[in-house]
Amino acid sequence: MTGDVFDPEQLSRCISCGFCLPACPTYAMTGDEASSPRGRITLMRALQDGSLPPDDATLAEQSSFCLGCRACEPVCPAGVEYGSLLEQWRVHQWRGWRRPPVARALMLLVEQRWLLRLSGLVRRAARGRPATPRQAGPTPGAAPAPAAGPTPGAAPAPAATAGSAAPGGPGAQLMLGCVERGLYPAVSRAAHALAPELAVPTAQGCCGALHAHNGDLAGGERLAERLGEDLPGTIVTTSGGCAAHLASVLGADRVRELSTWLAGRPTDTELRVDGRRARVALQDSCHLRNGLGVFAEPRALLRQVADYVELPSAATCCGAAGTYSLLRPKESRRILDAKLDEIEAAGVDLVVTVNPGCLRQLRTGLRRRRSAVRAVHLAELLARVQSPTPPA
Ligand code: SF4
Ligand code: SF4
Repeated sequence: MTGDVFDPEQLSRCISCGFCLPACPTYAMTGDEASSPRGRITLMRALQDGSLPPDDATLAEQSSFCLGCRACEPVCPAGVEYGSLLEQWRVHQWRGWRRPPVARALMLLVEQRWLLRLSGLVRRAARGRPATPRQAGPTPGAAPAPAAGPTPGAAPAPAATAGSAAPGGPGAQLMLGCVERGLYPAVSRAAHALAPELAVPTAQGCCGALHAHNGDLAGGERLAERLGEDLPGTIVTTSGGCAAHLASVLGADRVRELSTWLAGRPTDTELRVDGRRARVALQDSCHLRNGLGVFAEPRALLRQVADYVELPSAATCCGAAGTYSLLRPKESRRILDAKLDEIEAAGVDLVVTVNPGCLRQLRTGLRRRRSAVRAVHLAELLARVQSPTPPA
């Protein structure tokens, strides 16, 4: 009898109604009950009561195949906290050397600040080729019609501070994010251009989401608490996944995702492409939407500056899912390809993300297809609209 893998109260909540099945991308892929949230909870219960051995192959496969997207949570009438159960499951499945080496290496990387800086050496390749004039089409309406669009790096660099209190909220501070610092530092620069009232302390580590989602729940909590000490007061983040994890450890009142911080701010400019208002779509961040219930705010901001197009599967995972695209590339690509077909069919100029992992996934996929559609982070797009000719 294994007995202590899961919180028994959380595990007991599922009433096996099956309402979650249509929301689950892996169940949609296979039609197999074991790949559904209900099927996985049945497996968790079998692990907990000892009717399946801890090293059972189906347990290993299903705990890895799950995206961790939490799309099963908002539709569940019993309030099952599936994301939390999955984290507990992976602590058991991926303990010690059973953790996938790629996940282990990334977790080590984000804990070492000097290694994180070194990761900047590969960021050019990770970001992809610079935008071509054709790709960079959309321009702010207030500007003449040059070729440059919402180009990464367009916004001025944030001024590092010692973490002083900010006029926009007592102690409100911008979180730089470990993945974002390595791959997309322009996103933080854009966020600070939009919200200059935020302080930007340089001494800040990883939020621990990577650890929590890859079998080291205690490490994930420890890193979140340490970041909470690095950034006392309100933490504003440009990553939906980090926002959800930090909120689960520090409390929702300590954390704001950027779109909720900017919500309601007026703008009198618009994004234009080929002489018309740009058409843009949004890819939700799964954890931001399903964990924190934030989805209206980024849409409202986009509607202010462009013609917003709702993708039928905007709320469904893009296949990035933290380390999933690295650990399960075949399944991730399958999910991504369907998403990209939809984006291209929607006739949009840009697809906007609110999470660096989604940004990387969509940019890589669109580039591979040589698509005319570009993927940008919400902060980059809004900063470009606000400041068409930023200082060098
Ligand atoms: S997880 Fe929720 S929606 Fe899914 S079967 Fe259990 S109770 Fe029903
Ligand atoms: S987290 Fe996502 S992939 Fe995993 S069971 Fe829930 S809906 Fe399915």
